[in-house]
Amino acid sequence: MDYVKLINCMRCGMCLPACPTYKETFLETASPRGRVALVRKLQEGQLDQSDQLLEYLSLCLDCQACASACPCGVNAGELVAEFTCERKAESGLGYLENLILHKLVPHPDRLETSMVPMRMYQRTGLQKLVRRLGILKMFPKPLERMEGLLPDLPARPLRQEIQEVTPAMGQERGTVGFFLGCVMSLIFSDASRATIKLLSSLGYKVITPKNQVCCGAPNMLGGDLAGLKEAAQTNIDIFAGYKVDFIVTDCGGCGAELKKYGHHLEDNESAELFSSKVRDISQVLALHADELRAKLRPLPLKATYHDPCHIAHCQGIRREPRELLKLVPGLDYRELEAADACCGSAGTYNIERPEMSDRILKRKLETIRASGAELLVTGNPGCLLQLKKGLGDHLPQVRIMHLTEVLARSMDA
Ligand code: SF4
Ligand code: SF4
Repeated sequence: MDYVKLINCMRCGMCLPACPTYKETFLETASPRGRVALVRKLQEGQLDQSDQLLEYLSLCLDCQACASACPCGVNAGELVAEFTCERKAESGLGYLENLILHKLVPHPDRLETSMVPMRMYQRTGLQKLVRRLGILKMFPKPLERMEGLLPDLPARPLRQEIQEVTPAMGQERGTVGFFLGCVMSLIFSDASRATIKLLSSLGYKVITPKNQVCCGAPNMLGGDLAGLKEAAQTNIDIFAGYKVDFIVTDCGGCGAELKKYGHHLEDNESAELFSSKVRDISQVLALHADELRAKLRPLPLKATYHDPCHIAHCQGIRREPRELLKLVPGLDYRELEAADACCGSAGTYNIERPEMSDRILKRKLETIRASGAELLVTGNPGCLLQLKKGLGDHLPQVRIMHLTEVLARSMDA
């Protein structure tokens, strides 16, 4: 870990109002400033790694709202994540972590097979029966929570369905590589189908390599830096086989990770080149706003936008999604209060830390209610899962969609 990053904190406290866990607890140990101080003391050997101390650190969502607020460029979330990676490198992964991060996540075919029972569970009507009878209450809480978050699954993962090459419609203006995120393929396939359609309609040939693997974000989340580097090198080698102008993704979490390959694989030119080509879909679509506007038809909806942390804080993208939504004729766009505040999803945080996650989600739902929107738009699968569940439970009149689904729907209207 770069010690300089730790000593850069001047303890001004400007990050405190941005931190979701500090807003809920008002505890210094649950604040970015406190976390930086704890990691620093641990690095300096002035503190021992007690369970209580690790507990404080693990309450961090790695939302990086603190980094956006910090005038000194300190990123408490990233420092906590790096500390976790260093600790795991020494202690090693647990059996289950190893199984998930090394035997399941890097293999798209195994991931797809693992979802088959869930699809059967939904399609046979068993899910409805289980929910009606409250059977899940007899199972461990995390399982009940995971089941509750799962929306209706598509008939097939998108990876199995799409062609590797989608031709450009009309005159070809360039070629993009499409990074299809695992969750987008397995759960939000309609959104990624819409992404490919939008790119193709704007004249891009879209190449979606079938052998690409998970971006490695779950490895980073689990403190497995070696696994992340392996995933990064695999994807870099695969995309290097194609001549593409950009590598586009519609998954905020994947985009944030792909853009950091150059940082993770130090002194690796191909990693730097790969990362320099990565774009969130909103960045590419915004380049062609006028052409897109001409293709859109009215969608008379009151809509608002939730900034995923991985798009706003990690990639600094805020303007493009809003500009794109405002292109849709008839769409009544309203800004959400604290739109870039975390929704409490944060990878598996909403399963591991249900109480804090629910408190953070509650704040977000209150702002959505206050906006009067009937459609919530966002750009990251974790947020889609968390907010879909929250809206279903508390604001069923509000629908949620990925940005590309809204634009594609407007194009088809
Ligand atoms: S992390 Fe940044 S904003 Fe927060 S106290 Fe330190 S210097 Fe100030
Ligand atoms: S990453 Fe998020 S939760 Fe963690 S310290 Fe920063 S603002 Fe707080």
